[in-house]
Amino acid sequence: MKTYKTSQIAALCGVHPNTVRLYEELDYIPPVPRAENGYRVYGEIHLVKEGFVMVIFNQDEYIERCLKKLSVEIGQRPAGSRANRTAADFIAGEMEQAGYKVTVQEYPCPDWRALSVELTVAGKKVPAIVNTHSPSCDTEGVLVPVSSAEDLRDIDLTGKIALVHGDITRGGFMPRNFDRRYYFDEIKDRFIELLVRSRPVAIIAVSHYDIPLPVLQDSELDIPSVSVHRDEVPLLLGNSGSAARLKIVAESRESTGSNLIGRRGNGEKKILLCAHYDSFPGTPGAMDNAAGIAALLLLARNLREVETKAAIELVAYGGEDSWFPGDALYIQEYPPDDLIAAINIDGIGFKDANRMAAFFGCPDELVSRITETAKRFGNFIEGPFYESDHGFFWPLGIPTLAFTSMCMELLGKVTHTVNDTMDLLDISKIGHTAGLALEIVKMFDE
Ligand SMILES: [Zn+2]
Repeated sequence: MKTYKTSQIAALCGVHPNTVRLYEELDYIPPVPRAENGYRVYGEIHLVKEGFVMVIFNQDEYIERCLKKLSVEIGQRPAGSRANRTAADFIAGEMEQAGYKVTVQEYPCPDWRALSVELTVAGKKVPAIVNTHSPSCDTEGVLVPVSSAEDLRDIDLTGKIALVHGDITRGGFMPRNFDRRYYFDEIKDRFIELLVRSRPVAIIAVSHYDIPLPVLQDSELDIPSVSVHRDEVPLLLGNSGSAARLKIVAESRESTGSNLIGRRGNGEKKILLCAHYDSFPGTPGAMDNAAGIAALLLLARNLREVETKAAIELVAYGGEDSWFPGDALYIQEYPPDDLIAAINIDGIGFKDANRMAAFFGCPDELVSRITETAKRFGNFIEGPFYESDHGFFWPLGIPTLAFTSMCMELLGKVTHTVNDTMDLLDISKIGHTAGLALEIVKMFDE
């Protein structure tokens, strides 16, 4: 690769060498590797004859192109769907272009979608959303409210419709077949087990979010089910014992989901960078997680300019938001013995939220170095963030970092809803996360 000194770059671009240095400081250009004597060594990526404005434009343009592709052109892309596959093809292509060898790891996952739903309680229509993977039905039954395992003990709900309400539905239920090594909720698990055993003809579950989200997402549950807004609770409870009718039209076909694994370098050890590319059903998933993929791909491109001792492994997970076992499968096939560190990016770039970084098992000294370096890329708040693909690394003692936005309160307002669109994102925040992640890769590589 041809390289250039600061003075050469300045001459080629027609600016003062100090301007070049300033632009690096401002993060307008990707971080510039240093030679042993401390001098900056510019590679091709930094050389744009038309001037630095082009460089600024290019990074942002790349992020914007990724966001548009995933959240506008492709749109919602739940695991198993055709759109999910189109997204996978785009990402694999970008990884290859950036010089990574890509392996696809497939797993079975149905392509499911709801076509229509009609819920009538005591003659009144109640707005409802179909729970992911629910079968079709046209059924009637008496409404029986249940809110705890206690309510389900020795109950036979044959021919009846269970109305699941109360705290038990907060945050929804995990599918019964999900790998429970790291996530579990015994109370919810027990509840679901008893609910299924009581054999209701259908389930109506209350969602606690502003925009109702599916409370159940279990592809092996053969009981038709819907979720309703919390505001419907008085009406529904007021009609317990009355007849309800539920009509769902949904289709499901056998399909697959996939992880994309891109690898570069021959190091014995590796550093893993990951993000999920699927979306929750019904959302364009711009922040969650087109933004994470954009940062991952930008990082992958910029890493071409850095010689690392460790191999770099990129993993784009295809089913994080649908509980599909991509993460568990990856760990199974790629045992983490050679893993130095893992960095996950999920839900970044939201304009009106602080950036957040979560650290797991990272030495204190490294955390303070990262915090110091982060100042160059805008502030990051250190905070807890457990629920994403990195949940499969830190419990194994692997130093792990995860980037997100501080916006848990946006779940069911923006996140996982139709409102998660590109216009809510700040492109520079996405670029900065990629920039900081690159510096962190270098630290882990020392
Ligand atoms: Zn996510």
